Amino acid sequence: MARRRQIYEGKAKILYEGPEPGTLIQYFKDDATAFNAQKRGTISGKGVLNNRISEHIFTALQTIGVPTHFIRRLNMREQLIRQVEIIPIEIVIRNVAAGSLSKRLGIEEGTQLPRTIIEYYYKDDALGDPMIADEHIACFGWASQDEMNDIADMAIRVNDFLCGMFAAIGIRLIDFKLEFGRVWDGDYARVILADEISPDGCRLWDLKTNKKLDKDRFRQDLGEVEEAYQEVARRLGLLQPDDESAVLDLDSHRKKRGK
Ligand code: UDP
Repeated sequence: MARRRQIYEGKAKILYEGPEPGTLIQYFKDDATAFNAQKRGTISGKGVLNNRISEHIFTALQTIGVPTHFIRRLNMREQLIRQVEIIPIEIVIRNVAAGSLSKRLGIEEGTQLPRTIIEYYYKDDALGDPMIADEHIACFGWASQDEMNDIADMAIRVNDFLCGMFAAIGIRLIDFKLEFGRVWDGDYARVILADEISPDGCRLWDLKTNKKLDKDRFRQDLGEVEEAYQEVARRLGLLQPDDESAVLDLDSHRKKRGK
């Protein structure tokens, strides 16, 4: 295969030049990082599962009219996406207290929040993605007020939709992170959902047992990390119990690595 031009390599994904102008190929790696990349590891088969899970969610969101960068999945680890100008803000939506919210404000993990909270973080690894307010976004021109209104509206729609989607398969959506990007149409820019939605950037707890089915298993060394990602995919109907192809793929991966 002809060598493609790599545009960017992040912690969990690589972006390559796409087949047409304005497109990119998003490749999902098995690499995992936590605590601002101080902890590093691999979650075998994660890239395959996140590619499928994110495809499933972005496709569903498009059917309810949320514009996204997703075009189509190409293979086990790659998807074709629209090239966007990433807005340097991570949008965190919280339904239940956990993670940094619990730590900063001393609210017990698992406490249902009386209303959904949206928080903003400035995307800058060197600064450790600091939390910011609307005022910083306006002051430094990271996004316009209109763009932020669109982003907040879409984030709430995504949250409502995902809460229902996960509740239907016995999962509580505790919190999650979104990223948005601009696409240009002449002089006019529009904001669309970008990046990915997967157990890497969501907290997902089993509705009955509160078992964590997300990257916290890696962050907190809880074990059964691969199994948690597989469980989410299986419940979403992306991994049939009798169709073990993806699992077999993971197993052959492990065997090759002598595990
Ligand atoms: N999150 C993420 N990337 C980040 C920071 C947070 O995907 O760089 C997600 C994280 O998985 C969780 C939510 O955003 O679902 C809220 O994370 P939190 O602020 O609690 O930070 P953490 O505890 O992960 O440091």
